[in-house]
Amino acid sequence: MDRDHLILKRGDRIRFRCRRSGNCCTSGPNVSLTAYDICRIARYLGVDWRSLRGRYIYAVIADMYPVVVLRGIGGQVCMFLEFRDGVPTCTIYPARPMRCRLYPFQPVSPGDPDRIMIDLKCPGVGYGEEVEPPWNLLEKYYRELRSHYDRLRKLIFEDGYQPLEALEKLIDDVCREFNG
Ligand code: SF4
Repeated sequence: MDRDHLILKRGDRIRFRCRRSGNCCTSGPNVSLTAYDICRIARYLGVDWRSLRGRYIYAVIADMYPVVVLRGIGGQVCMFLEFRDGVPTCTIYPARPMRCRLYPFQPVSPGDPDRIMIDLKCPGVGYGEEVEPPWNLLEKYYRELRSHYDRLRKLIFEDGYQPLEALEKLIDDVCREFNG
């Protein structure tokens, strides 16, 4: 564990209140997305998920698995962030990705669901009232993450899809389930 993160376990509380710094949407590692995140964003914007490709999201291949991330972040501004009257504002806030919902809390591992990390670089940590980590949201995130990778693995290793084709099929299927 590095000095920028603290591990919390069930029962722990920590002071946190969002200060609208916008740091989380302009810095840090790229935000990875599941098919569920992508379909929620597309539904919120009323567009086909494919229209998000390139401008807002892109995929990289790691060990045969395609990983989709938000464009921006990593030293840049997220493509969904706008400054309205100088205030950083997420333009897809009701449909923002799970990793954004969880932040400044961050998953440790799906196999370790009773611990969660908090990013001490967030200026809201140590400010405001004591809160419990968002355990229910973390559980939902792990359920979606497991489903995403289980389905991808089946498409690639059992059904014979190429990684990017498998990703497209998975997102098509999930978006159809959302709309069905
Ligand atoms: S999607 Fe919204 S909350 Fe997430 S990094 Fe982008 S602007 Fe921030």
